[in-house]
Amino acid sequence: MTTPVDVDVTAAQARIVLTAHPLQRVGAFALTAIAGCSEPGQMTADGFATAVRRMAEDAVRAALLPSTTAEGAFWLKASGSFFPNSKMNHPSRVRRSRQENIDLVLAWRTMPARECWPGRCCVLCGRDAVGYFAKVDVPLAESEQTRNSTPRGHAGLALCWPCVCCFHALPYGCRLTGGQSSAVHSWDDRFLGRVTARQVGTNHRHITLGQPVGKSGGYAAEVEALDRLRGYEDDVLEDIELFVFTNYNVPSPNPLQVHGMEQPLAEWLRRRLGRAADLHAVEAAYSRPGIPGRPLLARDAFRDPTRILQVLTAFIRERPMAALDERCRRLIGLCFSFASEVMGMNDEDVESIRRLARNVATVVGAEPTASALKKYQVAHRRSADLRGWLEREAVAWALKPPADTSGPMVGTAQFRLLFDRDGQGWDYQRLLLIAVLEELDGRGWRPADGATAAREIRDSGEPMAADSNENEGGGDN
Ligand SMILES: [Zn+2]
Repeated sequence: MTTPVDVDVTAAQARIVLTAHPLQRVGAFALTAIAGCSEPGQMTADGFATAVRRMAEDAVRAALLPSTTAEGAFWLKASGSFFPNSKMNHPSRVRRSRQENIDLVLAWRTMPARECWPGRCCVLCGRDAVGYFAKVDVPLAESEQTRNSTPRGHAGLALCWPCVCCFHALPYGCRLTGGQSSAVHSWDDRFLGRVTARQVGTNHRHITLGQPVGKSGGYAAEVEALDRLRGYEDDVLEDIELFVFTNYNVPSPNPLQVHGMEQPLAEWLRRRLGRAADLHAVEAAYSRPGIPGRPLLARDAFRDPTRILQVLTAFIRERPMAALDERCRRLIGLCFSFASEVMGMNDEDVESIRRLARNVATVVGAEPTASALKKYQVAHRRSADLRGWLEREAVAWALKPPADTSGPMVGTAQFRLLFDRDGQGWDYQRLLLIAVLEELDGRGWRPADGATAAREIRDSGEPMAADSNENEGGGDN
């Protein structure tokens, strides 16, 4: 006789919930998209059953192919990096009949019978577990050792059926290569739901139709994650993580890498680089001979975001002096928005740097040639030289203030910002230099020898101190 409790228990096994496991969450949203829903909570028991059946059919189709090199065998090949030695890709399947393989794959993708449940709770969601699951079903789970979270003698995680199905759905929400895969995760459910659904759409041709993925260049996982971020229409509310992983049976020295991106940077990239003109300007600043800008930008965005301001400002200051093109003007705007929105510089400090830039522009722009600007640019290479330059000019300014000015050229608060040993001194110095260039450009100052002077600065061989890592943090102050 079926009791109401039984009905509840059965219903729970057809309802997915979001847990604290990032890859389960990606899988949960992938399964949601496969079921044609936009949120896990919308999925009915029938919708869940249909989605699980669709995944099983994809697995059966792959399992019946003769080899990973056969036409349409992409999913058969890629499945090895998610479900190694599972019924869909185990070498023994070539010795079995077609019907045996179908039955084995479908049995693998069917919830264990109630009487076989272990009487434990799912380690992820706390509902009734339907069995113990290991590496064959759960990426990065141990293959045989006993884990702390499972009773002795059981080589696996106690999981409920919906949580297992989320792991079965994980590949649909990942960027697939055939080997190492990557998944974008965030605790912002709306964002995660949207980017995962898009990935599910892309993967239809690879998983269901078995078409191979195209060749990709360097930092492809980062590039694709950046593209997904740029294509997202709403505000990003939480940090983002990029999981790069493989679940192959062959031990990998680095089966999982996680690259985090803080929310302010994610939102800046989405908002600013969603505009094509801004993206192209940043890509131009990042491009190197023979290397397009986007992979390098994507790498820094996920691995070393502090470099972004360095790269953009370095590009601007190497343009012909005091004659900025549209791209440089855009980049200057981006640098300042990056400083306040991503680096958290406060508006008063940034405005204070802009005030100083106006005074510096008055000093270097007083000459019809670029020679004073050139000296000033060179002084930016070492913190101590810049300080010396500012001190000398401040004295000259006090003795003979330029017309239409009032007050000192530089204040103590500005000095503190620029030469702060522990803080962001270098970043303020970078902003000061581009603000001076912007100011001169705005004033219409065009030295006759500007292009030559810029080339001399660029060709002088010595990197600007502000880009030299050993000087990072104002070490030569
Ligand atoms: Zn569960």
